[in-house]
Amino acid sequence: MSRAPRLTTRVVRVGERVLGHGHPVLVQSMTNTPTQAAGRTLAQIRRLADAGCELVRVAVPNARAVAVLPKIVKSSPLPVIADIHFDHTLALGAIQAGVAKVRINPGNLGLDRSRLVARAAAKAKVAVRIGVNAGSLPEKLRRTAKTPEALGRLMARTALQYARALESAGLKQIVLSVKASEVHASLAAYRLLSEKCHWPLHLGLTEAGSELAGSIKTAAGLSPLLLEGIGDTLRVSLTSDPVREIRAANLILAATGVRRRGPDIISCPTCGRTASDLAKILQQVEKALDRETRPLTVAIMGCVVNGPGEARHADVGLAGAPDGSFMLFAQGKPLRRVSPAKAVPALLAELKKL
Ligand code: SF4
Repeated sequence: MSRAPRLTTRVVRVGERVLGHGHPVLVQSMTNTPTQAAGRTLAQIRRLADAGCELVRVAVPNARAVAVLPKIVKSSPLPVIADIHFDHTLALGAIQAGVAKVRINPGNLGLDRSRLVARAAAKAKVAVRIGVNAGSLPEKLRRTAKTPEALGRLMARTALQYARALESAGLKQIVLSVKASEVHASLAAYRLLSEKCHWPLHLGLTEAGSELAGSIKTAAGLSPLLLEGIGDTLRVSLTSDPVREIRAANLILAATGVRRRGPDIISCPTCGRTASDLAKILQQVEKALDRETRPLTVAIMGCVVNGPGEARHADVGLAGAPDGSFMLFAQGKPLRRVSPAKAVPALLAELKKL
């Protein structure tokens, strides 16, 4: 698979992970448990890590959340990012608690207080994401943007202004994000940032929606950027279990050729030639491979028209026969015929051997 060229951004360290300068585009998510419920938050972080998440953000809305951060940071398998709004003392507390990065929006903290956070972060070698959202721009300023593209450029200019202010306060480890829920605004914002600065970019759309709608919207918004080499980390924001965000992010990275993580499952749309319940078989295979991180290709095909060809080119595959059974393939070779009931276990057994 051809790879999209990556634009060169600065290196920013987030715990043991590295962002920017051609390093892999990292997949991240955010917990949706009350952070102060440290046990539940850690359990969700572990599930995210198992699914392939590489950085995790937790909301820090109050002092109780700050108080449990040392425990979360200590036990988390992933670098922890503190998400702060309105109160800069929470950011200072999070930095003291040992988080790897803080996410702030100087638009709601104020520039002077953001500079205090920047100085503390620089001293502690903690990265800072400056996150500007379309919804957080001052209404008067926002009204000056007459088109989605103009809104995007306004967000980018605002983020750059904040970043320069914090850089002059001594902060070097800066990541930028400019999130809107509208695709054209996001494209314009990130493209302008990539032209004007070398800070790593965190890609995402905000308030993207349900699992299906949000994944499609995010793919529409982020794929052009990824194909242009823009972006160093991404989050697919879904109104769903955060674990679902990881699979969606991996699929977007794989489809754009930016990074291959987890299996590529090829399946046909089925038609009048399909003699089996292919959708059910596909569902079972997807579920079984939910946590698979190897870059495998799996073909689930309905009949002999395209089935054997695709199954031969995959690492493992099933091609439907007219009697409802399947021919099982592994590494380019037909192995044997299997009944619909045995098709999935047989396929998984072959995958295990690889
Ligand atoms: S592979 Fe066969 S069953 Fe699937 S869509 Fe093509 S012709 Fe129909």
